[in-house]
Amino acid sequence: MLTETPTAVDLPRLVRPDFPLLDRRLDGNEIVYLDNAATSLKPSVVVEEMTRYYTEVSANIHRGRHRLSETASAEFEGVRQRVAAFAGVRGDEVVFTLNTTEALNLVASGLGLGSRDLVLVPFDGHHSNLLPWRRHARTEPIPVDSMGCVDLDAYEELLRRRPRVVALGHCSNVTGVYAPVTQMASMARSAGAVTVLDAAQSVPHRRPELDGVDFVAFSAHKMLGPTGVGVLCGTGGALERLDSRSVGGGTVDWVDLERYELRRPPHRLEAGTPNIGGVYGLGAALGYLDRLGFDALAAHDRALAGRQLGEALSRPALRIVGPTSPSVDRSATISLAVPGVSSLREIARIMSDSYGIMCRSGHLCAQPLVDRFTDHEVLRISAYVYNDEEQIARAFAALDEILPTLGAVG
Ligand code: PMP
Repeated sequence: MLTETPTAVDLPRLVRPDFPLLDRRLDGNEIVYLDNAATSLKPSVVVEEMTRYYTEVSANIHRGRHRLSETASAEFEGVRQRVAAFAGVRGDEVVFTLNTTEALNLVASGLGLGSRDLVLVPFDGHHSNLLPWRRHARTEPIPVDSMGCVDLDAYEELLRRRPRVVALGHCSNVTGVYAPVTQMASMARSAGAVTVLDAAQSVPHRRPELDGVDFVAFSAHKMLGPTGVGVLCGTGGALERLDSRSVGGGTVDWVDLERYELRRPPHRLEAGTPNIGGVYGLGAALGYLDRLGFDALAAHDRALAGRQLGEALSRPALRIVGPTSPSVDRSATISLAVPGVSSLREIARIMSDSYGIMCRSGHLCAQPLVDRFTDHEVLRISAYVYNDEEQIARAFAALDEILPTLGAVG
């Protein structure tokens, strides 16, 4: 268990003992986990906290007055306060959801949008920040430039069309680039739009940037927490504007045979029994991240991003999807195209089976962006707290051995 406050350089060495999965061997290989943009590994404290809920508390929340139920309710609400402190909002501005996708759907379906309403969506957005908007409104992508970075002039132009909502993505799960969301949200707000931020890829490394943002969504599982828990925060009363998509237990104060009275947010947006054990796990994950410190996390993210970029740039066989300038603000997530090799999943499989290196291939649920810059597939290497520069170097050295056997050019 982590006992000292780490610096960015110490981070991987200090945290690794806390992640039991890293003790596993696959066919004798140590596991190098570089698929963190998909989901992170979980430290023991998270699993132990969830076990504590199931073995020592186990009761439902907000349902009864017995001792175990009161403990569960108090601890569950304690995590809500912890999430609120993390996001810089009030406790009643935090809704627990299943994941980022559900949080974004809650907003897209709850704002009373119609087919005449315009929603601007990020061209480099994840499908979860594209499709919910397409289902409920007319959408227009915010263009990116030839490097895959947001085109702020084109964005300014689009805002003249008076969108009702601007959906932003803080960090691309393909290019790893952080968008200037504070500036973009302030521009959107001046244009009278509701602003919604997908922070799924940024919150593992940075606290949410909520200046000018009405709603922000993220998932516990990408920030050392469990699967099955997400967060929707609505600032300045934004949650009050959302219609509840689901009603039932937990959402009402009072019911007779004809009428019912909905509770105030966040409760009216949390229908039925939530993932209580998962929320306990999220609380432990946030506590763990706080002990590491977001300054160290962000510095570590930047250092690994720089190393990935350097390794990729030095190899003519690889083409980086996204900007190549070291001055771009980016996370330690890099996606690569490999000219001459059509099946990148074959590379990912060999890296896994022969080297113990887990990375991702495919369109990464951001198909419009990946299709524009590649032949429909990329290989993604995404790092987090327990990874170090040596592991990044090892992944690229593995590529040096694999690519010639698959006909890569360069
Ligand atoms: N947005 C982004 C940028 C993502 O990377 C992801 C997950 N890959 C999501 C949204 C969806 O997250 P979840 O699957 O946890 O709902």
